[in-house]
Amino acid sequence: MPRERIVERLRRELMGYGVLGQNERIPERPSFRYLIGQLYPACADQAAADEQMQLGNDTTDVEIDTRDEEPRAAATVRADEEGELDDRDDPHAGENQDDDTPRVSHPFLPQSIGLTCNVSPEATWVDAEVDFGTYREVPPPGGGRGRSDWERTHRNHQHRIPIPSSDSTLRDSISFPGAGASDPAATLEWIIRRNRDADGEVTVILSAFLINSTAWPLDDADPDRVRVPEDGYCLFQPALRLMDREGSLPFVDRKPESRWASTDPDLERFKLLFRCYPEFAVGHGCAASWSGVSNDLTRSASVFTELIPEHELPRVVYDPLELAGASTRFLEMNHLAGLAVEDLRPELSTLQTAYRRWIAAREAEVAGAGFPANLITKAREHLDGCLRACRRIEDGIDLLCSNADVLHAFRFMNEVIELQQRHVGLVRLRREAETQIALGRVAIPVSLPPSGPAYRWRPFQLAFILMNLRGLVEPGHADRRLVDLLWFPTAGGKTEAYLGLTAFILALRRLRARGQTDPQLPRGDGGVTVIMRYTLRLLTSQQFQRAAALICACELARERHRFGTEPFLIGMWVGSALTPNGVAEAAEVLRGGRSLNGGDPRQLERCPWCGTRLTTPDYTADADTARLSIRCPEVSCEFHHTDLPILLIDEQIYGRCPSLLIGTVDKFARLPWQKSFSVTLWHC
Ligand SMILES: [Zn+2]
Repeated sequence: MPRERIVERLRRELMGYGVLGQNERIPERPSFRYLIGQLYPACADQAAADEQMQLGNDTTDVEIDTRDEEPRAAATVRADEEGELDDRDDPHAGENQDDDTPRVSHPFLPQSIGLTCNVSPEATWVDAEVDFGTYREVPPPGGGRGRSDWERTHRNHQHRIPIPSSDSTLRDSISFPGAGASDPAATLEWIIRRNRDADGEVTVILSAFLINSTAWPLDDADPDRVRVPEDGYCLFQPALRLMDREGSLPFVDRKPESRWASTDPDLERFKLLFRCYPEFAVGHGCAASWSGVSNDLTRSASVFTELIPEHELPRVVYDPLELAGASTRFLEMNHLAGLAVEDLRPELSTLQTAYRRWIAAREAEVAGAGFPANLITKAREHLDGCLRACRRIEDGIDLLCSNADVLHAFRFMNEVIELQQRHVGLVRLRREAETQIALGRVAIPVSLPPSGPAYRWRPFQLAFILMNLRGLVEPGHADRRLVDLLWFPTAGGKTEAYLGLTAFILALRRLRARGQTDPQLPRGDGGVTVIMRYTLRLLTSQQFQRAAALICACELARERHRFGTEPFLIGMWVGSALTPNGVAEAAEVLRGGRSLNGGDPRQLERCPWCGTRLTTPDYTADADTARLSIRCPEVSCEFHHTDLPILLIDEQIYGRCPSLLIGTVDKFARLPWQKSFSVTLWHC
């Protein structure tokens, strides 16, 4: 499986051993070779070192070790904080730190890793197993000045930890000395707390740590300085595993009730949503994982440290046939764009019926035996939310069936989104063809993909659009007070759902303006209609191209739908470091000069309609008319003889009020101080 191979290679690359086996010999220091999983030794005289560290060692010295030909950073360690264990899980929290608790000498030079888990009160022991590697320097043959090799020794130690049968706190440890005086020593330390609550329920909490207990080497020449220890003093690839070798399942779920004892409503929701995800251990200085989980998810056979935690996030799979039975035509954009009003309800209701069926199944689950009683109230709240969403979908369908303008706008939306999707496909094909040519392969043919059933909404997109129709159409509707969050994993199609609503509202405004015939009054169809706001780094050129393709589609369909004379435009409103603020400045950049802030008007790499590459001659800046025009060089493109409906310069945006404004958050933050922009929004 490629995924397993990639994960395995990543582990070897970052943490080591395995490439060359347990007794590998590598031609460089393991600390250079591996980035993760190094436990440093304890300070030889911890008290003295602590004191010395407190005495104003607030600089970081970097020394170059000249014995090797590679530079070696030996940082003077300053550790005036013992930021080791998270208090929530730290069994020593609030206790005297002078005892022999495991410590992490420095947040960046960890000395230990550990686990805290809950053990079943019936268990009488837990088996611990530790693994790590130590590396020994092997000088070059003949004692020359060449580079040393480093040879790994694998260490494995096991110990059975007894669990006390009476309520108490017990701490103990066992040392695993190295083979010789210069070989690093390790210690397994554990703390067991057996408590009984007011109801007589017994809880056994076990914390176990693997510690590098080698003495920290002081600098012979400068005893006041604590140096970063040599690799030979460190433990590499450390692992700690707890289990019962005789096969019982000694570990119990760490009681989500106490874990999430909070009144935070979000945490309350998590309790419900993650009820099927038990937590058998928490890591200290590492992550924790477990294996051998019982079918009822309450017990596990082992818990272990995990220095590179992994989790597979499955793709969201949806099967429209499963949702709708035999036909998925109600999701096809082309079909919806021409659907007669009498067919609307029977077709679109498929979605709402399927959703109701899903809600009913969840309701049955909540009412059934086995559903946790403490989560029923929260579950019913969630189901109420689902029912509200379902009613909003039904309401959207009612509106479509009863209002001709709304239906016209809905059809327009389906038409232009399909067109946008086909042109995004064309751009992708053109891009791939160029790559093939660059690789010296035969170019794939590039043509506009045909309209048809391939272009269909994902059910969540259509549901999102339908549930928002009423709020968009009626300014006084209660939904206007809602903020709908569309949550879906990346690449799931969120953007198209937003763009669908964008196309709908653009069309609706044009339709409503038709009834306004008084020349003294504004028609109300132009101006900024939709704002999309992105955080600074998240607005990618690809996202802008997709939105631009939609506006191109709207603009080409405008006349046929008799949507007035005002063009549909898209404005890219970003910082001046990206695009110059004024057209004169843009003209200067196009002539080969530089703008004030280094901005460049040539922000479009390709024509969003056909994918042809755009170059400097395709941009024309005219300071007199304050216009930066962009035309596609491809003769067959609709935007060869006419400007692309795209505004990239602030001055143009303020002057022409684009229908769709895409901006970055920093621009919106400046809104109160920028009169010209307030005027733009005033024309919304
Ligand atoms: Zn083009």
